[in-house]
Amino acid sequence: MHEPTIYEISVEGRQGVRFPQPDVPETQFPENFLRQELPLPELSEIDAVRHFSGLAQKNYSVDAGFYPLGSCTMKYNPKINEQVARFPGFLHTHPLQPITTVQGNLYLMYHLQEYLKEITGFSGVSLTPAAGAQGEFVGVKMIKRYLEEHGQSHRNKLLIPDSAHGTNPASATMNGFDTLPVPSNSNGTIDMDVLAELCQRDDIAGIMITNPNTLGLFEKDIVEVTRLVHEAGGLVYGDGANMNALLGVAKPADFGIDVMHLNLHKTFSTPHGGGGPGAGPVVTTDRLAPYLPGPIVTVLEEESEDTAPLYGYLTPEKTIGQVKAFQGQFGVLVKAFTYISMLGAAGLRRVSEYAVLNANYLLANLRDTYVVPYDGLCKHEFVLEGVWKDIPDIHALDIAKRLIDYGFHPPTNYFPLIVHEALMIEPTETESKDTLDAFIAAMKSIAKEAREDPALLHAAPQSTAIGRLDEVKAAKMLNVCCLPQYNQ
Ligand SMILES: *Cc1c(COP(=O)(O)O)cnc(C)c1O
Repeated sequence: MHEPTIYEISVEGRQGVRFPQPDVPETQFPENFLRQELPLPELSEIDAVRHFSGLAQKNYSVDAGFYPLGSCTMKYNPKINEQVARFPGFLHTHPLQPITTVQGNLYLMYHLQEYLKEITGFSGVSLTPAAGAQGEFVGVKMIKRYLEEHGQSHRNKLLIPDSAHGTNPASATMNGFDTLPVPSNSNGTIDMDVLAELCQRDDIAGIMITNPNTLGLFEKDIVEVTRLVHEAGGLVYGDGANMNALLGVAKPADFGIDVMHLNLHKTFSTPHGGGGPGAGPVVTTDRLAPYLPGPIVTVLEEESEDTAPLYGYLTPEKTIGQVKAFQGQFGVLVKAFTYISMLGAAGLRRVSEYAVLNANYLLANLRDTYVVPYDGLCKHEFVLEGVWKDIPDIHALDIAKRLIDYGFHPPTNYFPLIVHEALMIEPTETESKDTLDAFIAAMKSIAKEAREDPALLHAAPQSTAIGRLDEVKAAKMLNVCCLPQYNQ
């Protein structure tokens, strides 16, 4: 079906906005600043509203339905987060205002820093990185700087388990490290014999580790992993993008991790994907804290009997440098602070308990229908194989696309790489048993269709405005321009 572009519904002379009378004198722009041709669509207000509302309704979101996209933690984002982020005092401040006029903002950032330290067990934190991947880049850069300053520049190898998120090797490589893969064993956790052998080398800079790993399994040897790497002279980077199984249960600093990032836009319920910017704070120990990026909020003057504390900024002495303009994504910090304050310590622990319970409930109900390559109790997510031996021409992609016809967002597909035809499912804690049951019923029904009417799966999705895309072409030759001359 051809979807008319905004230019095709344009009618010459139609007008949707009326400009206010100018309150400054009219002036002549220099000739070369003016474009001869400015093809703007001409629409009434209602045509424009319907056009954009129609586009928005074609989108899938966590507000529209269940979104079990493994590793992405698509939990519901409570609307109170948005309300608080829109408080005029937060919304209308400028990042360069004198600190005495923004003490409320600084109070919020300071206490968010304290919350994140308490949750993870670390002593240092920088809120500034704008994403998980940027937090990783920062943390690995801190490791590199530390090694350089301690005469250890020859250490240029970072160990990375083969189940790791793709951003891990990217962050290592961008910082000039070579990566050495550490294989997983048949239980889906780090192969400790291979790790011990790799730790014999004298050029190990450290390891990047994710716990629970991307199979949703707890690395039960984690303390031994960090001990081996430290003994080998390396440092341990923790990928803390998904803290949804650990809140109030375990502190990553206790595992022996030296530095890690958190994804506020996953664990701490700030919107992501198409929903806006994220934040990837970095937490660390005393050893690496001097390398953190600034600005970090600190107490400049302690409170006294009749004055509140005075908050201000500091930049650590050996900082790797600033990585984001001003204080980072302040609006995101407000939302995460709101979420943590609303839940409190007991509430955060319940988040993790329900996240793990929900994942295990799905796994227990799908185990007989789908192949589970690494079975056992999972944490916040688990991975199925999207293929069966007796129907070789059905693939994980077909199952994922068919789920769209059932009204669900597909799970993560083809990641982690160590699972053949992976379907990575993360329900999160915010879903009810009814929703989980509906998803189980859909997954079982699709498995039945795969045998009885495989064409349904191959043709999916059929309920969407656009059917199955050539995803490589869509990503590599993206064309979102609606100007007719660019859209032939
Ligand atoms: C999401 C994720 C990242 C990257 O976070 P971004 O904010 O998308 O850059 C890194 N590691 C893991 C395990 C993740 O799930």
